Amino acid sequence: MDKAEFVKDTRTPVKYLKGVGEVRARQLAKLGIKTVGALMEYFPRAYIARKLNPSLRELKPGDNIALTAMVSWVDERSTRKGRNLLNVGISDGRATITCSWFSYPKSFPGLFKPGATVWVAGSLSEYNGQLQLMHPEIEFVDDAEEHDFWKKREYLPVYGLSGELTQKFFRRVIYSAFELFAPQIEENLPAELIAKRGFLPRKVALQKLHFSLRPEELLGVRKRFVYEEFFYSQLLWARHQRFHSQEARGIAFENKRELTGRLFRSLPFRLTNAQVRVINEIFAEMTSSKQMSRLLQGDVGSGKTIVTLFAMLLAVENGCQAALMAPTEILADQHFANITRFLEGFSLKVVLLKGGSYKGKAQTKAAIAEGAANIIIGTHALLQSDISFEKLGFVAVDEQHRFGVQQRATLARKDEHPDLLYLSATPIPRSLSLTVYGDLEVSTINELPPDRVPVKTQVRSNQKIELVYREVAKELAAGSQVYVVCPLIEESDKVDLLDAQRMHKHLSTKVFPQYSCVLLHGKMPSREKDAIMLRFKAGEIRILVSTTVIEVGLDIPNASVMIVEHAERFGLAQLHQLRGRVGRGGQQAWCYLIEHFPLSGVARERLDTMAKTTDGFVIAEKDLQLRGPGEFFGTEQSGLPQFRFANLVTDQPVLKEAREDAFAIISADPSLEQQQNALIRKFYTSQFSEKEKLILY
Ligand code: ADP
Ligand code: MG
Repeated sequence: MDKAEFVKDTRTPVKYLKGVGEVRARQLAKLGIKTVGALMEYFPRAYIARKLNPSLRELKPGDNIALTAMVSWVDERSTRKGRNLLNVGISDGRATITCSWFSYPKSFPGLFKPGATVWVAGSLSEYNGQLQLMHPEIEFVDDAEEHDFWKKREYLPVYGLSGELTQKFFRRVIYSAFELFAPQIEENLPAELIAKRGFLPRKVALQKLHFSLRPEELLGVRKRFVYEEFFYSQLLWARHQRFHSQEARGIAFENKRELTGRLFRSLPFRLTNAQVRVINEIFAEMTSSKQMSRLLQGDVGSGKTIVTLFAMLLAVENGCQAALMAPTEILADQHFANITRFLEGFSLKVVLLKGGSYKGKAQTKAAIAEGAANIIIGTHALLQSDISFEKLGFVAVDEQHRFGVQQRATLARKDEHPDLLYLSATPIPRSLSLTVYGDLEVSTINELPPDRVPVKTQVRSNQKIELVYREVAKELAAGSQVYVVCPLIEESDKVDLLDAQRMHKHLSTKVFPQYSCVLLHGKMPSREKDAIMLRFKAGEIRILVSTTVIEVGLDIPNASVMIVEHAERFGLAQLHQLRGRVGRGGQQAWCYLIEHFPLSGVARERLDTMAKTTDGFVIAEKDLQLRGPGEFFGTEQSGLPQFRFANLVTDQPVLKEAREDAFAIISADPSLEQQQNALIRKFYTSQFSEKEKLILY
């Protein structure tokens, strides 16, 4: 394409840049860089400072340098290991340093003519008391057609790249991107905010990021981009809050205490103070005309289900239907069984709806549609368009992080804007919930039922596994049940991990042949999985070897041992969930975390944290600290704001400023119609209108 034909727009695909062909474009796409704009916004990971044209006599090992000098000698030889080694001495007339290459094209040594001028750049090391540049960048100055921009730079950006791309290549395309497109960089913050917060214009800030001559100014520059991201995401939440407070379209339930009072009196245990408090919080909102959108968080085993059941009964005693959606069939079954048990003698109709086709499904659907079903427990199947409710007043979503934003939005729109309660056992540190969930109200059960005995956790090396089995044998002999979790299903050549299949064989034939030991994994048909779980629950199976399919929500009180193989491979949140499967029956339970490899620093910290505490909030904070927020929320959160620049932990002060500004703007101009907000409106509409559709339900 001719240069003149360029649509000069930062949305131009990178492949139109000089030096970027199809292959390079594909490699860049792997870094998420498809357009020139994305390339320009690919921030340097670090900067190196180097000495430009230094006097060679003043140099020392560790210096980064770039200089033009004269070739004084060339020496090629074979090393003892049979490799070729090329040494070239370069001199500034007063001192000489050696440039060395181990691998190079055959024709390379011939290019060095003593007396010729070369430009070299690299990091100095020392070898046999001599200063040396290993594999420096090199240019033969005489045949250099144009002077490379980067050669003269004292500071060089360093980018996070895949192995296929070199820094040199990347810097070159960055340079040509800005050369051609810098004038097209659009501002996305209004002048008043830029002035108020003391930011640089976007165009200038971006150029500084890549080409700054004073890296100490970069902190301030970066802050602008962090602010931008927070500002627009907070604008979304500000609009959300506005929208919700204006639309009084939820159902105002009346607290009649008919069914809820009866449940309270018939409970086989006393609610914890935290449960009572949370139920009150939920009731206060359900009895208002606002549509509830609330996160119920509480550690594994804190008793979220019973709290949810109170909310369901409030809806039911007001003539509405209430639904509970779970991420897996096993969990839906478990909820169905428990809730049916709690509601024995209530003469309410509780139904279970699953995916696929099965006997009796049509009747269930009819019961839901006609209103005969009061309480509906189900899987994703509840979201299907052919499921209609007679009068849906309340929906709870268990293990909410397992569902996408889209699915939650679908639920929220069902029928008459039911009140919504999202259950989560992954506590979100306070500092983060605002950013990720906006103004979603949060209720926290911060107390476990008193009968809980904290699980004892031990980190053991695989080499001492026999000692673990000796302990486990005692538990089995006393009638307990055991979980063994492995990271993979099948043996894999690539990663030598103990897989569930091998583990199952080993345990069932060699270690505990006298007990029934069964394998469960995610690739089994769900009918088979369910059957196994039922047998485990009934105590027929004593040892369950599985992959992480058992991770969420399962409640089998008789299980008292959890063995996690290759514990170093699991994240903290996952380990915490796994451990939460035991210690639910009031007896002492054990969790053995088996390590197979010498641990890296982070893995060590993870396992130490697990051994030290059972508090889900402490674990979540630690997890966040070790992994960073991006991974903390996982991919399921897609659709929620994704931050490229901002660090949710360290950039909290910027978040505060951005939030203040965004909320002030929306409160003065909710639809962004005023002239001074035109720029915000334009950017917001182009970036956020899709997200808004998902969130403003
Ligand atoms: P989670 O919050 O992990 O979903 P569950 O709702 O499954 O926890 O509750 C775990 C177990 O604790 C269930 O068997 C439940 O009946 C029981 N439970 C709930 N609340 C209490 C309480 N206040 N006292 C004793 N046991 C309780
Ligand atoms: Mg649960």
